[in-house]
Amino acid sequence: MNPIQTKLPKVGTTIFTVMSQLATEHKAVNLGQGFPDFDTPAPLVDALARAAREGRNQYSPMSGLPALRQAIAAKTKKIYGRDVDADAEITVTSGGSEAIFDAVLAVVHPGEEVIVLDPCYDSYEPAIELAGARAVHVPLDAHDFHVDWQRVRDTITPRTRMLMINSPHNPSGAMLSAQDMATLADILRRTDIVLLSDEVYEHIVYDGARHESVLRHPELAERAFVISSFGKTYHCTGWKVGYAIAPRALSAEFRKVHQYNTFCTFTPAQAALAEMLEQHPEHHEQLGAFYQPKRDHFRALLERTKLKPLPVPGGYFQLVDYSAVSDLPDVEFARWLTVEHGVTGIPLAPFYETPPAGQRLIRFCFAKNEATLEAAIARLEKVC
Ligand code: GLN
Repeated sequence: MNPIQTKLPKVGTTIFTVMSQLATEHKAVNLGQGFPDFDTPAPLVDALARAAREGRNQYSPMSGLPALRQAIAAKTKKIYGRDVDADAEITVTSGGSEAIFDAVLAVVHPGEEVIVLDPCYDSYEPAIELAGARAVHVPLDAHDFHVDWQRVRDTITPRTRMLMINSPHNPSGAMLSAQDMATLADILRRTDIVLLSDEVYEHIVYDGARHESVLRHPELAERAFVISSFGKTYHCTGWKVGYAIAPRALSAEFRKVHQYNTFCTFTPAQAALAEMLEQHPEHHEQLGAFYQPKRDHFRALLERTKLKPLPVPGGYFQLVDYSAVSDLPDVEFARWLTVEHGVTGIPLAPFYETPPAGQRLIRFCFAKNEATLEAAIARLEKVC
């Protein structure tokens, strides 16, 4: 047999896996891959155990348990003011990543283009390439990660099928404003471009800011897949439950892919999340207030080091500038910091087609217990 010709020549193992493995190998404090090291809420864990015990262990409907879709619809109406049809416009998926993959595969054709804003999450481009399409990268501002909408406008061609946005943004935490959404609506008007809005950090916002969900903006929502993830909201990233909200016609195409990709998502977790959403709405309402002291504490601790924290409007990642410590490129710096100093972060280069020359930033996840953050700082303080 001839050697397999790779379909993804640019892809190796994802940086999150690489850095987590390296952290384990070197017993480093792992602030790399984004996951909380504190407990999932007890009522949710209890509900999961109960669902499994009560025998809710078989396939759910392909689009998700009705109770969960209804709870998502009620929440969407309450917080974003949008009426969403739980039967036709919501699909539960095995995490946000599956939803991104399904959406791209469902509507993007070979030879088309998808605009992504760099730095962007590393799963976007492989999904686009597997669809036979091409990712066209538009850089965000290198300092505050705002979108240069004129550049986006100039990048659109007759082949552009989709634009992908992400707010709060991974890795920077930057958030799109109401003005951004108005500009975006103006750009997409009179085009056939589908919008994919990755909003998995939607509830983790700070300082009284408002998350500008695409679901608040009817004109955008009419052409969008809006993707979220329970893993981020309920501290259960390993459960892999997310969802996509999209108008009926887009959801119908989305489900054609979803049904043959995973068919349905782990039923006990869906049952537990439905119960949690109904009985503990305060959980997601208070998530920003829960994370804000962690963010502020971590930033205060960083003052003891030579690392310079950038602002964090949303999400649970802290970018730090390490140029006062090292001139190594970020991938090498992240490896060095893990191996020599026992602290793991994520370099930004894998989020870019072309990383900005001389950028010296790495990402730390502060969704951690105080003791974890303090252990990391105790090590970082010693880095010359
Ligand atoms: N979303 C997580 C992050 O940005 C990574 C998830 C994964 O490893 N697949 O850290």
